[in-house]
Amino acid sequence: MIEAMTPSVEQSCQDPGKSPAGPLSGNLPSNRETTHLDILTGLPNRLCFMEELQRAVNTHRPSGPMLSLLFFDLDGFKFVNDSLGHQAGDEVLIQVGQRLGQVLVEPRERLFRLAGDEFVVIADHVERLNQLPKLAERILAAFQEPFIVMHEKAFVGASIGIAIRHQQGQTAEQLLNQADAAMYQSKRNGRRCYSFYSVDLDQEHRRLFQLRGDIREAIENQEFTVHYQPKFDLATGECCGAEALVRWFRNGEIYSRPEEFVAEAEKCGLIVPLSQVVIRAVARDIKCWEALGHRMVPISINISASHFRFGDLQEDLASAFFFQGINPGLVEVELTEEAVLHDLKLSGKKIRDLKQMGFSVTIDDLGTGRSSIAYLQKLTVDIVKIDESFVQEILDSEFALAVVDSMIRIAHTAKLRVVAEGVESPEICDCLRTLSCDHVQGYLFGAACDAESLFAQLQFPAALASCQSTSM
Ligand code: C2E
Ligand code: CA
Ligand code: CA
Repeated sequence: MIEAMTPSVEQSCQDPGKSPAGPLSGNLPSNRETTHLDILTGLPNRLCFMEELQRAVNTHRPSGPMLSLLFFDLDGFKFVNDSLGHQAGDEVLIQVGQRLGQVLVEPRERLFRLAGDEFVVIADHVERLNQLPKLAERILAAFQEPFIVMHEKAFVGASIGIAIRHQQGQTAEQLLNQADAAMYQSKRNGRRCYSFYSVDLDQEHRRLFQLRGDIREAIENQEFTVHYQPKFDLATGECCGAEALVRWFRNGEIYSRPEEFVAEAEKCGLIVPLSQVVIRAVARDIKCWEALGHRMVPISINISASHFRFGDLQEDLASAFFFQGINPGLVEVELTEEAVLHDLKLSGKKIRDLKQMGFSVTIDDLGTGRSSIAYLQKLTVDIVKIDESFVQEILDSEFALAVVDSMIRIAHTAKLRVVAEGVESPEICDCLRTLSCDHVQGYLFGAACDAESLFAQLQFPAALASCQSTSM
């Protein structure tokens, strides 16, 4: 994970207390400064960090002040690079260095730029543990205001991982790996926060690393299968479609949850092959249902952001459905807000192309990606799906009720159908009906089931019948 440590040197590459030189600072740099300073930000670089950390470890005594690392990488930085260009990205990095230079005023809090959007602080003066959260909060506070680049506001944050050297023998490399693992925990916790390293975290880090290898194997060994969760029309009570949800079975048992392995597949570049497995499985099941003479309903397929943005989605859908003689009207593509909002113009074109091929398009997890859903009028989508996090709150929170109500109104104004997901109680179902929601999906009507069982559920579901009797 990190490069080999370089031997420690006598001279420190950054005088304590010295603020970043800045790329254009006046004096000519010495030879040592050019090898130890990052040209863009003027901060000490990775080589300097390695030497400083090694020196700090060599002199550290666990009985004295704590030696700790705060490792962080920027949230939203890729978006700046992708949307405003690399020059804007560089400008953000320079501004980050400047802001943090003003925040890290203690001489023993030393900031380094490791690479790309990765920074690290060595703090070796810490006497009490509660000083570290305060330091992390100071760093996070530096990201509260947006960065202004090219007359645009760039909202960039930081996810921080903190590791402390607590025993003799703990190497510089271990310390950095621990801070890195804690940083990933902050990402998993929702970003823009800090996490401390713990042994459990290390195990979690290793487990996820192992999971990536397992996903590769599982694709080859055909361990992935697809289950279907039915959706129902609130006006007629009939099943009006089903969502394809991938499942991973190993030796007859669920091996990992989709929320976990889909996210890992996305990170390690395996999401497109996994998605292709799902698409082909849905095509096989549709053929089979047709052959058995079942009443057909549209099947929606979750498509990840990277498959939609960088993969060959049209080609994958065309070869599985179009060229196999399957009516594309039976297939809906579920795209998350996150996937389409990256580049609204390009997404609009891709969505139009999918629609021209005959596929329907749904915006999934509506309301989780942006505060305004006004972008809907710019896209030719057919359906929106309100995220369960809103749906499940509508009876307990007036705010959630108002949000869902306005989402339904806006969607209807744009002539879109609305699905509410995560419906677990007849009361919520009734409330959704009064709000004129079109379709419902959730454990109240049935969890995802295998392809054979789906059609047993296509009848008028008991749960929907019971909640109808309690309404109006
Ligand atoms: P999602 O697209 O929001 O899918 C809905 C999730 O909510 C499913 O979890 C479903 O089983 C669950 N769910 C259904 N009814 C209820 C309910 O009444 N209450 C609650 N609390 N949950 C309910 P699942 O199958 O574990 O999938 C989780 C996520 O994994 C999905 O969220 C989706 O983002 C992703 N995913 C699943 N299958 C695929 C796939 O084939 N491709 C891709 N790219 N992502 C997938
Ligand atoms: Ca979905
Ligand atoms: Ca959801």
